[in-house]
Amino acid sequence: MVKIHSKPLDKTIEIERVIGEIHGGQHGPTIIFTAGIHGNEPSGIFALKQVLEQLAPKRKLVKGKIIAISGNLKALAAGIRFSAHDLNRLWTSELMNEVNNGTLSQTNEDIDELVEIHNVIKEVMTKYPGPYYFMDLHTTSSESIPFLTVNDSSLNRDFVNQYPLPIIFGIEEFIEGPILSYINELGYVSFGFEGGQHDGLYSIDNHIAFIYTTLVYAGVLSKKTADYHHHYEMLAKSSVDSRGFYEVYDSLKIRNGEVFKMKPGFVNFQTVKKNQTLAHLNDKKIVADKTAKIFMPLYQPKGDDGFYMIRRIAPFFLQLSRVLRRFKLDNLLTFLPGINWADKTKDTLLVNLRIARFFAKKFFHLLGYRSIQKDKTHLILRNREAAARTEEYLDAKWKLKST
Ligand SMILES: [Zn+2]
Repeated sequence: MVKIHSKPLDKTIEIERVIGEIHGGQHGPTIIFTAGIHGNEPSGIFALKQVLEQLAPKRKLVKGKIIAISGNLKALAAGIRFSAHDLNRLWTSELMNEVNNGTLSQTNEDIDELVEIHNVIKEVMTKYPGPYYFMDLHTTSSESIPFLTVNDSSLNRDFVNQYPLPIIFGIEEFIEGPILSYINELGYVSFGFEGGQHDGLYSIDNHIAFIYTTLVYAGVLSKKTADYHHHYEMLAKSSVDSRGFYEVYDSLKIRNGEVFKMKPGFVNFQTVKKNQTLAHLNDKKIVADKTAKIFMPLYQPKGDDGFYMIRRIAPFFLQLSRVLRRFKLDNLLTFLPGINWADKTKDTLLVNLRIARFFAKKFFHLLGYRSIQKDKTHLILRNREAAARTEEYLDAKWKLKST
């Protein structure tokens, strides 16, 4: 048992690794929520606890299973983001291979948490049938409207299309090892929800609205049982001017020893003008390179991303990419000089850097490639569609039948 405190509710509760679970009275999917992966973000945990308590007496009306898992318990108890390592940067393929093979070469408090969470998820997936849905709940250091962070696979796109919220693609290209990328690579629907500022009372309410709407969209609750319209309206009215699809195109990385100070007063999604001062890095002024929207400006001591920049994706490009992916046009790319499959699985492209500069990054995004890494001579691009377990979701109402 770990005690965690909510400042806006002025309330302390005791939780364990599994915050709670509901085994529905009817057949359905398995929904797995994680919250508090960052220990200074208890909002999602308070929201999950409340929703599960409300649903417990209505168990017979629930289709499938709902499991709520807490994140960094030690950090949550201490009210800090993490102890030694950010738990949302540890889910790299190298470390997860070690976890899966039982060959961990290092350990600390945060890695212990990673192993425990991983084991619980594995156990849930062994015990309960799919389809599986993973949702990771967070809050931000700046004031913010609620939004979704999504790895751009067709499955995720079809599912998140249901929410009246801003949807942000591509943040995984700028950070290494978030839990959602690990689960996405296993091929399941999984994405993040950011409810608002860490200590805002509204952030807990937004999380509650998100949990209920999610349960309706996944087919676990009826609209009536979830009081859907109330929760939908709550999310919709919070983000009315910013709804739509965005991609992250730039970020400011803070390296070891650098002193970063965001200029006070920026809110998430705020439009900034070209040459406007945004922050200071080691006393050097950082200005906006063009007029754009600022995303997740950092107002807390821990963290290595100062801010991101985002731009809207026009609906035309969303449609175009759907068609390109459906017809698997990436197969034609390998006829070009300097572009090859990394191996026989045909899910990773190696692109010679001399060739790569003729293609905009956006072009590869349209075909479903993300997670770009570079070695000395090549870009390494992974296809988000390759692992998708589309067949497990075929009966879901939200699945767009065109794909
Ligand atoms: Zn977080």
